[in-house]
Amino acid sequence: EVAAAAAALTGPGQTSDGYGVKLLANVGSAKNVPAADEVHAEGVGLFRTELLFLDRTREPGLDEQVEAYREVFSAMAGRRVVIRTLDAGADKPLPFLNQEGEPNPALGVRGLRIARQRPDVLTTQLAAIAEARAQTGADVWVMAPMVSTITEAATFAAAVHEAGLPRAGVMIEVPAAALRARDLLGVVDFLSIGTNDLSQYTFAADRMCGALADLLDPWQPALLQLIGICGEAGRAAGKPVGVCGEAAADAALAPILVGLGVTSLSMSPRALPAVRAALAGVTEADCRRLAELAVAAPDAATARKAAIG
Ligand code: PEP
Ligand code: MG
Repeated sequence: EVAAAAAALTGPGQTSDGYGVKLLANVGSAKNVPAADEVHAEGVGLFRTELLFLDRTREPGLDEQVEAYREVFSAMAGRRVVIRTLDAGADKPLPFLNQEGEPNPALGVRGLRIARQRPDVLTTQLAAIAEARAQTGADVWVMAPMVSTITEAATFAAAVHEAGLPRAGVMIEVPAAALRARDLLGVVDFLSIGTNDLSQYTFAADRMCGALADLLDPWQPALLQLIGICGEAGRAAGKPVGVCGEAAADAALAPILVGLGVTSLSMSPRALPAVRAALAGVTEADCRRLAELAVAAPDAATARKAAIG
């Protein structure tokens, strides 16, 4: 019993009946790795690479990128690291990309869309990731932000494989992508749901707008329904579907996400112990039952109440 209690505090994520759910950390650089280790994260589920590019008038060179990625990969040797390609634009404008003048930056050339104009930026980044991976023992997965179509996903996957990287995935941040999760999994190896942007684009509510917090609530049944479409697609294809947005840090929501078919949760390290404990307190069948109740609820408050009581 003492061993079980200890595992509930530090072991791999799982329900009380042993259904495994990977608990991963969101990091922006190697500086965040000690915090992830402290809570026994099983790997990195979202390595945001923007940090390296911010406040720069010129793109960081290949060697500088290799070094930054290698630091995280080697600290995570043997574990999974899901690295996200540059997610610039909108709330993260980059001077060297000359994006001034977009009337609606959140709906503009951001995330993977930048590769339409600057394929060289993506090619260099993938080459740097491949080189850093070759120098370390990490299990590197690569994903693209802001993907809307199967064509974009297939083009990205081809570029990832071309760079010699084995696993390509896409983030689900746009409702169009969630609706087509099954087809996306025909061309990529995994999905990772970015609930911050998926909420923003599903509810047409700026994620920075505090006055619209009720629309951005991760318990909104419409958001959960979209997550469920992705989870079902993952189950059907036998491929991983993670959540790496803020919703993954909500311990009470974790069983619902798992019930919807989500196989990993990636979050800020400080949120991880409570999520681990929440999962340890439910069975997989509980998760599925709670997920059904939450999706069927008429509003976020009712969904929350149905799941938490
Ligand atoms: C998200 O949109 O949920 C996400 C994880 O990406 P970011 O917050 O960096 O846009
Ligand atoms: Mg996002």
